[in-house]
Amino acid sequence: MRKKYVYFFDEGNAEMRDLLGGKGANLCEMTRIGLPVPPGFVISTEACIHYFENGKKFPEELWDQVMAALARVESETGKKFGDEERPLLVSVRSGAKVSMPGMMDTVLNLGLNDETVETLSRIAGNQRFAYDCYRRFMQMFGNVVMEVKKDLFEHALSDLKDKKGYKYDTELTPVDLRELVDTFKGIVKKESGQEFPSQPLKQLEMAIRAVFESWYNPRAITYRKINEIPETLGTAVNVQTMVFGNMGENSGTGVAFTRDPSTGEKKLYGEYLLNAQGEDVVAGIRTPQPLEKLKDELLEAYDKLAGIMDTLEQHYEDMQDLEFTIEEGKLYMLQTRVGKRTAAAALKIAVDMVEEGLIDKKTAVMRIDPSQLDQLLHPCIDPNADFQVLTKGLNASPGAAMGKVVFHADTAEEMGKAGEMVILVRWETTPDDIHGLVQSQGILTSHGGMTSHAAVVARGMGKPCVCGAEEVKIDYASKSCRVKDVVIREGDIITIDGTTGRVILGEVPLIPPMINEDFRRLLAWADEIRKLGVRANADTPEDAARSRDFEAEGIGLCRTEHMFMAEDRLPHVQAAILAKTDEERAEPLQKLLKMQKEDFAAILKAMNGLPVTIRLLDPPLHEFLPNLGDLRVEVAELKHRGASLEELAAKEELLANVRTLSEANPMLGLRGCRLGITRPDIYQMQVRAIFEAACDVVEEGYEPVVEVMIPLVGIDKELALLKESTEKVIHQVFEERGIRIGYKIGTMIELPRAALTADEIAKHAEFFSFGTNDLTQTTFGFSRDDAEGKFIPEYVELGILEKNPFEVLDTEGVGKLIDMAVKLSRQVRPDIKLGVCGEHGGEPKSIKFCHQVGLTYVSCSPFRVPLARLAAAQAVVEEEREVFIDK
Ligand code: ADP
Ligand code: MG
Ligand code: MG
Repeated sequence: MRKKYVYFFDEGNAEMRDLLGGKGANLCEMTRIGLPVPPGFVISTEACIHYFENGKKFPEELWDQVMAALARVESETGKKFGDEERPLLVSVRSGAKVSMPGMMDTVLNLGLNDETVETLSRIAGNQRFAYDCYRRFMQMFGNVVMEVKKDLFEHALSDLKDKKGYKYDTELTPVDLRELVDTFKGIVKKESGQEFPSQPLKQLEMAIRAVFESWYNPRAITYRKINEIPETLGTAVNVQTMVFGNMGENSGTGVAFTRDPSTGEKKLYGEYLLNAQGEDVVAGIRTPQPLEKLKDELLEAYDKLAGIMDTLEQHYEDMQDLEFTIEEGKLYMLQTRVGKRTAAAALKIAVDMVEEGLIDKKTAVMRIDPSQLDQLLHPCIDPNADFQVLTKGLNASPGAAMGKVVFHADTAEEMGKAGEMVILVRWETTPDDIHGLVQSQGILTSHGGMTSHAAVVARGMGKPCVCGAEEVKIDYASKSCRVKDVVIREGDIITIDGTTGRVILGEVPLIPPMINEDFRRLLAWADEIRKLGVRANADTPEDAARSRDFEAEGIGLCRTEHMFMAEDRLPHVQAAILAKTDEERAEPLQKLLKMQKEDFAAILKAMNGLPVTIRLLDPPLHEFLPNLGDLRVEVAELKHRGASLEELAAKEELLANVRTLSEANPMLGLRGCRLGITRPDIYQMQVRAIFEAACDVVEEGYEPVVEVMIPLVGIDKELALLKESTEKVIHQVFEERGIRIGYKIGTMIELPRAALTADEIAKHAEFFSFGTNDLTQTTFGFSRDDAEGKFIPEYVELGILEKNPFEVLDTEGVGKLIDMAVKLSRQVRPDIKLGVCGEHGGEPKSIKFCHQVGLTYVSCSPFRVPLARLAAAQAVVEEEREVFIDK
C-alpha cells in the first residue's frame, strides 16, 4: 500500500502535531475552521524520518504526492509554477512538533527566476517589488539551501549602497536590484560551485531536502539537547502559497498575541510594518508599529484580524501567538500557536479564562509551569534589563539581591543594622558567620556546593545565594576580590541572581515578588484537586511561620542540628561532646535542654494544630567541633610562643579528643541513630526538650502535634531500642507534668537496607519519611558534594545519567527502593504515614513520582510549598487524562 506523506491543508488538524509538526498542524486547523490561510500542504515528519533511515533518500511515493498537492495549489490559486502569465511562488517552512528555533530558516518567494521575476513585475506593475523579492529569495535560498555564507550577500548589498551613496535598502532602484541579483548569482556560483537553480521544481526539491537536513544541523542538535526534545521526532515541511506584504502601503506583515504575554491583560497586542515581508518585523530593520495603529491605517484588515484573534482564542481555549500578512488590504493568516508568557501572565490568563468560562479549573491548573512559580515568590531580575554577567556560580538559593559588597560577617552585621543593603562575599561561610548572614540581602561564596553551609542556611532563610563562584578570588586582607580583571572593593555594588547563579557588577532593576489574588485562587484550585499532602522543612519559628503563610499542612522535617550550630550554643554542645563522664556531660546538656525547649515551643506554637516532625540529632559529632587542622596549627603556635604548660596541655587534650572523634568517612560513620544508641543522653535530652515544650504550650492553650523522627535507621532493632528509650522519657515527662499528649514515633528511610527491610522496620514506626538526599547518596554510593563538583555534570553530558539525581529523583533506582518500602511497610501497617523530606520534595517531576507511588505527603523548603501544591495537583490531572503534557 502506498503511504501518505503529503497532507493538503484541509486534510489535517491541530491534533496531528506528531505527524505534521506544530506549524503544519495549526495551518491545517486554521484552514479547517475557515480562516484565510494561503493554500498549501505539509510533508509529514515520517518523510523526514524515512529520509534519514534510508541513506538520505526521499520515500518513493513522496514526489508524486508533492506534485499532486502542487497541482491542487495551482488550481486553487489559478497560478502555476514558472508560468508566463501567473507564476506561483511559495514559501518552504520547517516545523517540528515542538517549536525549535535553530531549525532551518524559511525560504520565501521560491519559484522566482529570470523569467518569472519579469512576469511578477508586470502583474504587480512594480518592478522594484519584483526584484526585491528576487534578491531576497536568492539570499535566503543561497544561504539556507546552498550553504553560502550570509555575510557575503550582506557585504555585496552594503557595498552597492556605499557605491551609490544610499543609507537605506529602500533607496535601491530596480536597476540597482537587478545588478544585485547578478552579483548574488556570481557569489553562489563561486562559493558553491553550482549555478543558482532556475527551475522552480528543482528549487522546491532542493529546499525540501534542506529542511530535512536541517534537523541535524548543530544549532538544532544543541537546542534539542538543552530542551530534552527527542532526536526521533523529525521535522515536517510546509509548502505554502506566497502572499505579499511588500506590495506597497496597503500591504504589510505583523505578529500578534491575543493577550499581553507579559501581564496577561486581555487586549490585542502586537506589531506590524507596512510594505514589508516575512521577518522584517522581528529583524529590527525598521521600527514596527503597535497593532493599535493598524486601525487608523488599514481599518478593514484590522477589524478582520481582531475578529480572527477572538475566534482563535475561543477555538484553542488558550492565548495565541500569531503571524499575519496583508496583501493589498486583504488579510491572510500564516501561523498560530500557543503563546509563551511570563509567570504572572500565565496565572492571570488561567484565572481569567476560568472566569470567562473558557476553561475549567483543572485545565487552568495544568497551564502553569510549577518551576515558573519561583519567579513570583522571589524578587527577580527584570528580564528587560540590560546588564553584563560578570561570572556564574551555583544557583544555590533562588531570588535576586543587590547590595554593597562586604567580606566579613561583622561588617555585614554592622552595615545591615545601620539599614544598608549588603551582599556577604566569602570563600565559604561557617556557623560563625550567622549574624552576618542574617543581616545580608544575599550571599556569594567562591567555594562550596549546593549543600554547603551558605547554601543550606540561605535556603532556610529564603535569601538569594550563589555558591562556588570559583572565578571570584577574594583577598580578605585588602577587603577586595577579583573576577578576571575586574576588582571589586568593599562597598562596591553587585547583584546576584540565586535563581540562575549569575553575578553582575552594579545595580540591576529587580521585580518584586508578586503573590496576588490570582496566585491564591489558582493554588486553592490545586488544593481541591491534589491528593498528596504538602508540608514544609522548617528549623526555626520564622520558617514555621512562613510555611503557614504558604499554607503548608505541617512540618515534615525540623532539623535540630541547626539549633546546635547557633553561636550561643556551640560552646555547650562542644562541652557536652567532649565531656568524659556522664556527670560532666549533665551540665552542658541541661543548658542545651533549656534552649532547645524554647525553640521547640516556638515552633509548636507557630504550627498550632498541625503536625511537626522533629528529627533527633543527625550529623556526626565532629561537625560541631573545631577543625582538626586548625587545632594542630594552634598547638604548634602555642609551643612556638612558649605558652604556659597548662594552656598547652588543654589545647593538646582538645586536639586528642577531636582526633579520636574524627572519622575517615563521617557520612557513613557515627551519626544519626548510631549516635543515639551509643550516646543515649543526647537524644534523651532532646526528647525531654520536645515534650516539656509540648506540655508548656498545651498549658498555654495550644494544640501541639508532635512526631519524633529517628534518623539513619538501617536495622529494625536500632529503631526498636530507640523507640523504647524515647517513650520512657516521654512518659516520664507526662508523669511529671500530669499531661498526656498524642504523639508519633517514626523514622527516616535513607539507607538501602532500611528500604529493603521496611516491613520489619515498620513494626516499630508509625511513619516513614524518605530522606531522599541521603538515600540517593547511599544508593548510588555517591558523596553529593564530591559527585556534583567532580563528575555528575560529565555523566549527564555523556548521557550516563539523564539528570543530576540529587535534583530530580532517580525513579529507576532510588524510586524503586521507595516503591518497595511503601509496599512492604503497608503490608504490616496499612495506615502508616509516608512522606518525603529530601530536596526532591520540592521538584515537580519527583513530586509526581511521589504521587504515583502513593505517598501521604511531600515536604520541602517553605518557598517551594506553592510549587509542590501545584505539581501535586497536576499529577492527579495527568493521571486522569493519561496523557503526557508538553512542557
Ligand atoms: P519561523 O518559524 O522562523 O517564524 P516561518 O516559517 O514562520 O519561520 O516564516 C518566517 C516568516 O516568513 C514569517 O514572518 C512568516 O509569516 C513569513 N512567511 C512564511 N510563509 C509565508 C508566505 N507563504 N507568505 C508570506 N509570508 C510568509
Ligand atoms: Mg513563524
Ligand atoms: Mg539524612
